[in-house]
Amino acid sequence: MNDLSIPDLSEKIAIPLAVINSSQRIAILLAIGKGEACVCHLEAALGWRQAYISQHLMALRKADILQVRREGRYVYYRLKNASYLDLILDSAALSGLSTETVSSVINTQTYPACGCPHCVPAVIPLGTLHVKPSP
Ligand SMILES: [Zn+2]
Repeated sequence: MNDLSIPDLSEKIAIPLAVINSSQRIAILLAIGKGEACVCHLEAALGWRQAYISQHLMALRKADILQVRREGRYVYYRLKNASYLDLILDSAALSGLSTETVSSVINTQTYPACGCPHCVPAVIPLGTLHVKPSP
């Protein structure tokens, strides 16, 4: 049925745990959440320097946890598999944190300091709206 021994299985199981085994990487995954985020957004969300964030993003990409999408001058990062969030939520529960507490910080905020399209929605010029003047 299964020719993998417990040590063999355990070695495989440890891989994703090892990659996110730091509070910084967990923070980045929470800040990205189920959506996507650019580095400037993560900078605003976490308050860390861009070079520091990029270093972790690179490791998470290398580990095949994040995928990248380019749009104009922005590079967006997204989780390849949302199961990492479940893993983080399970770990949070083991730490005595409620799912609600953690869910409330998962990429829901917008930041005034961030200029990405998520935080600053495109401004639609008034003239193109065809709003009828009120009588
Ligand atoms: Zn943003």
